[in-house]
Amino acid sequence: MIFVIAEHKDNKLKPITSELLVFAQRVGKDLSQPITAVVLGSGTEPLIEELKRRKIDRVITAEHEQLSDYNPDPYLDTLKQIIEKGKPFLVLIGHTTQGMDFAPRLAAALRRPLIAGCVEYEKEEDRLVLTRQIFNAKMNMKTVLRGEPPYFATASPGAFPADELESGGNAEVVRFPVVLGGTSRRKILERVEAQKGKTDLSSAPIIVSGGRGLKEKQNFNLIFELAEAIGGSVGASRPVVDAEWLPREYQIGSSGQTVSPKLYFAIGISGAIQHLVGMQSSRCIVAINKDAEAPIFKVAHYGIVDDLFKVVPALTKIFKDLRQA
Ligand SMILES: Cc1cc2nc3c(=O)[nH]c(=O)nc-3n(C[C@H](O)[C@H](O)[C@H](O)COP(=O)(O)OP(=O)(O)OC[C@H]3O[C@@H](n4cnc5c(N)ncnc54)[C@H](O)[C@@H]3O)c2cc1C
Repeated sequence: MIFVIAEHKDNKLKPITSELLVFAQRVGKDLSQPITAVVLGSGTEPLIEELKRRKIDRVITAEHEQLSDYNPDPYLDTLKQIIEKGKPFLVLIGHTTQGMDFAPRLAAALRRPLIAGCVEYEKEEDRLVLTRQIFNAKMNMKTVLRGEPPYFATASPGAFPADELESGGNAEVVRFPVVLGGTSRRKILERVEAQKGKTDLSSAPIIVSGGRGLKEKQNFNLIFELAEAIGGSVGASRPVVDAEWLPREYQIGSSGQTVSPKLYFAIGISGAIQHLVGMQSSRCIVAINKDAEAPIFKVAHYGIVDDLFKVVPALTKIFKDLRQA
């Protein structure tokens, strides 16, 4: 059995949950393992309905007031019980802020291995070999799982394409009785959301990012205008943020956000490794740079070698005209 720990917010599954299910469906086929989605929360009915439609075998739901907002103590307590009872072979968790908060604790509590940040796997005879990226994605490391299952793995956002998720199942729903031990050491006082539309990059389908090639702050308007014309969100490289042209929430890269949109524009961005690790899993990358040797072209699917001050206004005009047509 493969367990997928569903991640959700405001009664909606987060995109990483679909990506984990794709990972599980692929491994499930290769190793003939059934799939269970595990949902913790309160009022999880809409999530169960959505998960039931996917091609999986079971949904385990654990409902409790203390699970309504993510909190590692009750999460750990509940997941430990579910895993000890269900005895899965593999437990898949998102390599997200939330997943990386509880996955290591969970694996350590059960004294089992955790392979963090997986991007691929292969079947070697009957064994599962997991690939993770190391040294800022400069190298891949293959890891063979040893010892007794369950094995724990987190999957990097964008590594498994959510649109390949197979539907058409009629999963059995199992309600797990939650018995929580001691009091939680953490209390959520308030949730402060990032300003929507401008900086909610994690689930943005289109991102238009600008870099130092824009030369000065007011030129960044070109990026905002293109983003508006194409219906995308704005992102930036680190020098843009360091120069205070934009706040830190816009930064993409190893010390900023990791994104995997369907379409990513890199404009006046050289493609340093610290930027690439935050965006290279985007489905389609379009780079605009006057330097044909810029490393960004190594990951770009489409490249325009020219002056951005000429190309970007022209592109914006085309998209605006298309919208009006
Ligand atoms: C620990 C650490 C963490 C880091 N974290 C991050 C991070 O999270 N995100 C990040 O982005 N960086 C990060 N960096 C910085 C990173 O190493 C690079 O310095 C940075 O990504 C470069 O940003 P850039 O591409 O905008 O600028 P540059 O490297 O200066 O590139 C500017 C590009 O614009 C092009 N250009 C200039 N003028 C034009 C024009 N008129 N038309 C078209 N193209 C033009 C140039 O050819 C050039 O390729 C980090 C560095 C360290 C050491």
